Amino acid sequence: MAEEILRAEHISKRFGGVIALDAVSLSIHKGETCCLVGENGSGKSTMIKIISGVYTPDEGDIYINGHHYKRLTPIEAIREGIQVIYQDFSLFPNLTVAENIAINEQLASGKQSVNWKEIYEIAKEGLAKINVSLPLDAVVETLPTADRQLIAIIKALLAKARIIIMDEPTTALTQREVQALFRVINELKEQGLSILFVSHKLNEVVEIADRTVIFRNGQKVLDQEARGLDIGTMAFCMTGRKLDTSAIVFSEVEEAAAPLLRVENLTLAHGFFDVSFELKPKEVLGITGLLGSGRTELALSLFGVLPADSGRIYIEGNEAKIRSISDAARYGVGYVPEDRVREGLFLEQPIGDNVIVTLIDRLVTKLRLLNSKAKKEEADRWIKQLEVKTPSGELPAKSLSGGNQQRVVLAKWVARSPKILILNGPTVGVDVGSKAEIHELIRNLAGQGMGILLISDDIPELIQTCHRILLMRAGRIVKEFQREEITEQALNAELVASATTNAP
Ligand code: ADP
Ligand code: MG
Repeated sequence: MAEEILRAEHISKRFGGVIALDAVSLSIHKGETCCLVGENGSGKSTMIKIISGVYTPDEGDIYINGHHYKRLTPIEAIREGIQVIYQDFSLFPNLTVAENIAINEQLASGKQSVNWKEIYEIAKEGLAKINVSLPLDAVVETLPTADRQLIAIIKALLAKARIIIMDEPTTALTQREVQALFRVINELKEQGLSILFVSHKLNEVVEIADRTVIFRNGQKVLDQEARGLDIGTMAFCMTGRKLDTSAIVFSEVEEAAAPLLRVENLTLAHGFFDVSFELKPKEVLGITGLLGSGRTELALSLFGVLPADSGRIYIEGNEAKIRSISDAARYGVGYVPEDRVREGLFLEQPIGDNVIVTLIDRLVTKLRLLNSKAKKEEADRWIKQLEVKTPSGELPAKSLSGGNQQRVVLAKWVARSPKILILNGPTVGVDVGSKAEIHELIRNLAGQGMGILLISDDIPELIQTCHRILLMRAGRIVKEFQREEITEQALNAELVASATTNAP
């Protein structure tokens, strides 16, 4: 095995009565991507803070590049080449890309005057290191999360990183951005850097890990080469239990009911090919597949964002021409995007306004003018119905937790009473408790008669909500699971097969 750069040995850390880490050891080798996996609260972030010198462990030893530390300080960690990409990226939002990349070197040089030529050179060199291009003069706060993350990575590289630690780096990324990040990670690996990738998204781990380490309740329960490690085994290790769906009540889909949605031979170049299926009232139909399988493109197509090139869509038996979002909305199709922060919510706006934004045209016609009392009543009704936990609908959406933000996005669409609701990754980045509640909400919405298309690669989620599941691979539906065929093992086997087939 490659040279060991870091070893944390028998690390224990308590917070009051909570044992966050209980004699846990972790090593990182040169040029590997080590994935650290575990449920919320399992101790992942605590371990990161210990190996980056932010927390001092109660017990244990840290060895980096052969140096032994009982108490590692943040400065020592940085000197040893440990760089953490924090979720806020620690950038200067109102400086440009070039300035952000070059600022550390500029400050370190102690020069009084700004040398613009040098700033641009440093920035260009940094971008070249990971083979990406970004507009050097763009102000950082105007850039999408993914670009800001890349800048943070470049800064880490310029600070002579040997190990780059990323704590849940894909939380706010779209699938395309996740793929771009994975390319960068592989590039870094080629250059001999080590990556500690912390996540609880098993499909991503399958894709990127060389070695996988799993924490559960502050203990390490697995540490092995990633090859051959399937999602089911990982999920089992993370939770220590098998999924139990025996207590779940699924709505009855009537065998004889006419389909709400019928898709025939739908095709979109570079997206998906010859896709056909039906969705009945009260049915939750899962669409799964790995990144790049075409599942999101299909969803966007049905919602009019990426109109299909050929094929037909029928809604309640009538052919529907969906060429734009407003077409889709007119046909009663709602869409909850995977990137709720960027596409689904106005974070600075009040929660209530977020809920009723799609209703405003209707409220206006109904009430002639936007009566603020009616507005508030309507918003409050949905906030209550979807159990958004907030003291007031007047607070900005950004004051909510991830799970509650997701409820607001759902409320916004449910308020329009769509016939067909497309949910893309509805619980991505949501904590376990809220997840279960959102799943119940999905089942209830179906129970009320809606047809739901659930795009997800979260196997437990699919199992707990879907009547049927379609598996996509390279833009085609390759398999259909009926309710009685839906098991973790079966889904795992197929998804893992996809992972191997998709591999370059
Ligand atoms: P993860 O990153 O895997 O979600 P953490 O390392 O953040 O888990 O947390 C592990 C446990 O330690 C949790 O029970 C958490 O509540 C607790 N914990 C973490 N940081 C602190 C802290 N600063 N003060 C008190 N408890 C903490
Ligand atoms: Mg954490």
